[in-house]
Amino acid sequence: MKVVLIGVGQAGGKIAQSLAEFDYNMDFDAVQGALAVNSAHADLQNLDIETQLVGQDTVKGHGVGGDNELGAQVMQDDAIEVMDSLDGKITAQAEAIFVIAGLGGGTGSGGAPVLVRELQRVYDLPIYALGVLPGRGEGSMYQANAGRSLKTVVREADSTILVDNDAWHDAGESIEGAFDSINQNIAQRIGLLFASGEAVEGVGESVVDTSEVINTLREGGIACMGYASAISGETAEDNINAVTSVTRSALFTGTSLPDAVTADSALLVVAGRPEAIPRKGVERARRWVEDQTGSMQVRGGDFPLDSDRIAALVLLGGVERSPRIEEFMERAREAQQQQQKAPEDHAANFRNDDLEDLF
Ligand code: GDP
Repeated sequence: MKVVLIGVGQAGGKIAQSLAEFDYNMDFDAVQGALAVNSAHADLQNLDIETQLVGQDTVKGHGVGGDNELGAQVMQDDAIEVMDSLDGKITAQAEAIFVIAGLGGGTGSGGAPVLVRELQRVYDLPIYALGVLPGRGEGSMYQANAGRSLKTVVREADSTILVDNDAWHDAGESIEGAFDSINQNIAQRIGLLFASGEAVEGVGESVVDTSEVINTLREGGIACMGYASAISGETAEDNINAVTSVTRSALFTGTSLPDAVTADSALLVVAGRPEAIPRKGVERARRWVEDQTGSMQVRGGDFPLDSDRIAALVLLGGVERSPRIEEFMERAREAQQQQQKAPEDHAANFRNDDLEDLF
């Protein structure tokens, strides 16, 4: 899948850069262009991809702190500049645009939903969001901001792929210490998803196509991705069990959104040397994904890759019913109520408890 990446805010910019680097180093050529947008000048200086500062008139390059309403406003004010910076990046080959952001901060949290909406107006391509959810240990501001941002971006984007900051790093690492390894994991796994739709030489019928990714995300809502790999056996026959066991690990322990298994749609991509991918194993794993997700729409395909490992990549679409999301939204609502609670504010009893949209 040929994609253009726009990272908004600090996390968004770093992840967009990691994805662009991975794609370049692997020679996949799926990433057509990458842009980082931020209201904090200092965060943009550390990046090698192209950048665009927003909110210069309002915040003078100092960022919006954790104020995601201000983040939404500065993006709206400078939307024309951002769209101009994208000109020429969205080539005729581009098949999708990804807006990437940490949902718990300010610039990305507020700015990403605004940018998605602006892109939807102009481009006739799927506009996806790749959002990072704050880990459980992050403060209540992050949780509340992420709740409002998520609610809004899910409404605007064609699909929102979520990565929980508690998911793709080793237990024991602090969240901040883990950012680099989480970003590397995102780059490798989401980068493989982008590349898996790219035609590779010597393709067979079973090779996965970009349209499979787009169709899996077609229903919109929230999506997530699982990944696991193991040492490959020599022959396809040797790998029958390996394929089922990496698929199981991808869904149960390798997922970007822990405990999100029930899904509307799914795509299982098996990556490895073509002659070592067992048809029987892949078919069995696909039926297993059908059983686990409860989805009748499980697509599948191979990703021929010259590697000594065999990997399963599972994309799940429509996971918003999962307990993980309900639990997060509850956490965000509580965090927002805590922030709103003023000591003498009896009128608060009459306010709607629901999280408001950002705009
Ligand atoms: P912004 O610059 O105002 O958009 O704020 P940030 O991008 O710093 O967003 C804050 C949220 O993103 C928090 O939940 C952080 O834990 C998370 N975050 C910040 N930097 C990174 C990063 O490099 N990687 C990951 N995975 N998360 C990050």
